[in-house]
Amino acid sequence: MLKVCKFGGTSMADASAIRKVKDIIESDNSRKYIVVSAPGKRNKSDIKITDTLYACYRDLADKGSFKERFALIRERFTGIVKDLNLSIDFDKILDQTEAEIAEKKSADFTASRGEYLSARIMAEYLGFEFVDAEDMIRFDSHGRLNDEYTDDKVKTRLKNIEKAVIPGFYGRNHEGKVKTFSRGGSDITGSVIARGVGADLYENWTDVSGFLVCDPRIVPDAKTIRFITYKELRELSYMGASVLHAEAIFPVMKAKIPINIKNTFKPEDAGTMIVPNEQYKSLGNEIITGIAGKKNFTVIFIEKSMMNSEVGFVRRVLSVIEHHGLCIEHVPSGIDTLSIVLESEQLKNGVLTDIVNEIRENVSPDYVHVIENISLIATVGHGMARRQGTAATLFSALAAAGINIAMIDQGSSELNIIIGVANDDYENCIKAIYNAFIN
Ligand code: ASP
Repeated sequence: MLKVCKFGGTSMADASAIRKVKDIIESDNSRKYIVVSAPGKRNKSDIKITDTLYACYRDLADKGSFKERFALIRERFTGIVKDLNLSIDFDKILDQTEAEIAEKKSADFTASRGEYLSARIMAEYLGFEFVDAEDMIRFDSHGRLNDEYTDDKVKTRLKNIEKAVIPGFYGRNHEGKVKTFSRGGSDITGSVIARGVGADLYENWTDVSGFLVCDPRIVPDAKTIRFITYKELRELSYMGASVLHAEAIFPVMKAKIPINIKNTFKPEDAGTMIVPNEQYKSLGNEIITGIAGKKNFTVIFIEKSMMNSEVGFVRRVLSVIEHHGLCIEHVPSGIDTLSIVLESEQLKNGVLTDIVNEIRENVSPDYVHVIENISLIATVGHGMARRQGTAATLFSALAAAGINIAMIDQGSSELNIIIGVANDDYENCIKAIYNAFIN
């Protein structure tokens, strides 16, 4: 058994959390490759190391000096080193880091130092080897992860190292300069390392015991999801469920390595297990796996008799949106109707009026109608396809709660049903769906 473990910012926030991390790693000899984030918040009003580092970079760019701000970084890390009783000369490492930030003048390099310093401490504390992510993770000239190169490097670099600590969040670009993933990207590093070494399991340790069926701000006692497939998670995280970086599933998905979301502060909790898509058949009996949603969409509803026999109709409608450089969220359609769902944010300053006018000119519809302030809510679960009457249960629950549905889109995957409701009904809608399916 070989496990790659990633510990997030709260797990690395101070010495007391780091001691818990050590206990977790030492309690299971198969936890061999450890990926760490930079120290995160110790309490609600605290500042993440990564944010302070970005501020260091801005100070450097604007004022030519970041000394004062770097003192905060220094204080935080030396505090941890002292509390852990480490004998390493960390001042020297910090001096070197400060000099390199001044010399390189790069936002990515500066931000990456949080993970670098965190991993140096963790390697020392565990007695594991420190292996730098920049020697393994490579981005191509478009800024995308270079999978082949990275896989190969991970394999060869770690082949003869039994146990290692690796900083998350960064690698090198095609020119050899340090480049970071997007925020929260240490999750991706963990996934990449897990695939590279052919791990049996990727454990992602955070400060919650997994994904909840829905947002606990709406349903306070929402249950934890025990099993979820990569695909279901994809649908939920696209809609805003954010325990794991949305891109972190891709590297392990190809290799069919499961991810276990675990809680550093409650290691006895089973957490959520994210498994290959084909395994859903052997999982529990739940009809739905999760509910997620987002507010503030606009639906442009277009009606034209016989649109299905008009060659190029849909393309001409969509080309209007493309001309404005906008992204489309959904395109549900009927025989004579087509709806386009867009994020309202993109349609400000007269853009919506322009689009509607251009659609009228381009395809001469019988009718165009705009519905604003819409929320999209996705009900996700492989179980829905196996069970008759899922849609009926959902729609009856909403009818009983007096919620009007403005749009329905049952994706072609049979994995989810997305509905559009008024923003004002958002919370009630999620509650109604939860109560209809989860008991
Ligand atoms: N430290 C980085 C961030 O705050 C990356 C990570 O924690 O995954 O976004």
